[in-house]
Amino acid sequence: MRFGASETDCQGCQQIYPASDLDRYLWCPDCRATVRRRGARWGRLVGIVAGVAVALYVVLIVKPMQLNLLWALPPLMTYVLTSRIAVAVVQGYYRYRGSIQVQAQSEPE
Ligand SMILES: [Zn+2]
Repeated sequence: MRFGASETDCQGCQQIYPASDLDRYLWCPDCRATVRRRGARWGRLVGIVAGVAVALYVVLIVKPMQLNLLWALPPLMTYVLTSRIAVAVVQGYYRYRGSIQVQAQSEPE
């Protein structure tokens, strides 16, 4: 005996999955992994750019008398925080857009 609600389509790729495989946003495991991967990639990029900017600010503007290891903390913290924010924003964007159609992936369906 089957009920119609036990299968539904993924919001990311529109493939049919058992409802138990989808998360609360109705995304399949593959799409979740893709979103996580892309989020991590953007998070690293944004974090590195922001961290380098803060490091340059410390070296060029603050000009500490002696550059000890403590001055590595602001760029490091900036990297950690901005990369996490970027990951959340990118993942939220793809969730909101409701599609994860991969442009680089050129396999026919
Ligand atoms: Zn999917």
